[in-house]
Amino acid sequence: TSEELRIATENYAAGMVIGKGGFGDVYKGVLNDGQVVAIKKASRRERATTFDIEIELLAKVHHSCLVNLVGYCEKDICLVFEFMANGSLGDCLFRKRSAELFSWNRRMKIALQAARGLEYLHMYATPPIIHRDVKADNILLDEGWDAHVADFGLSIYGPVGGQSHLSNHAPCGTVGYLDPEYFRSGKLTPKSDVFSFGVVLLELLSGRRAVEPDDPVSSTVAWAEERAELGDLTSILNPELMRAQADEATCRSVLADVIRLALQCVRKTGRDRPTMSEVASFLQTVVESFF
Ligand code: ADP
Repeated sequence: TSEELRIATENYAAGMVIGKGGFGDVYKGVLNDGQVVAIKKASRRERATTFDIEIELLAKVHHSCLVNLVGYCEKDICLVFEFMANGSLGDCLFRKRSAELFSWNRRMKIALQAARGLEYLHMYATPPIIHRDVKADNILLDEGWDAHVADFGLSIYGPVGGQSHLSNHAPCGTVGYLDPEYFRSGKLTPKSDVFSFGVVLLELLSGRRAVEPDDPVSSTVAWAEERAELGDLTSILNPELMRAQADEATCRSVLADVIRLALQCVRKTGRDRPTMSEVASFLQTVVESFF
């Protein structure tokens, strides 16, 4: 329960600022027992209501593919999370020399772990949770480069596809990742997360950002769909990584299947997209059989 996660101010120490978020500054810190943590401090007192809602929600979920809540402190209005030593996928994936850091093997594992985290939120969390802001910046990497889904600040809870308890939330999400169906109708279902996940998968496959700063008009979804229509699926794959891959022919055919999966995830209509469970099972087979 949330009561068990309460931490007294004297039981943790916050160090340097490691990031800035919607909720407030994020610090690296340490608990009295030595566990290294990330501490999210609310910037203003008025945030207290949001804070209560976040704790209630976060205390109920726990999975190895999520950034789990370790505790919270009411006095300081802060949330304490597991520390992710390698920061966000968004910060690492598009850096120079990321091909060396992120092999196909690692990319497919990251995709699988993120899919398992979302599957858990949709299927096994009680009540079920729709993330609402799935993007590379909200997938954090631990010291072994394993992926954990983060940031449920925007999440609302169950029942999935039904009425939301927090329906006064303004529509949100991030340009480039936003489900066009949700944008049109305002109807939120887990399939919106599937769309956004599909965009992350395309980013992992292509090395292209959801929206490229020097090509803001054409999103990566539109870019990939155009190539697929031309029958040129493998031109979507990051060329630098393809050159480095020894077993190229097999690799191409397996990755072409993953591209097809990503394109199914970003279909215009939610009904036509797979569920996160289906996505995760498929990626599991890919990781086990090839990578
Ligand atoms: P927001 O509320 O805007 O979503 P984030 O949760 O994305 O804020 O946090 C902002 C930044 O802080 C992240 O991009 C990341 O660099 C860092 N950060 C957040 N949570 C953690 C964590 N658990 N471990 C390590 N760094 C983190």
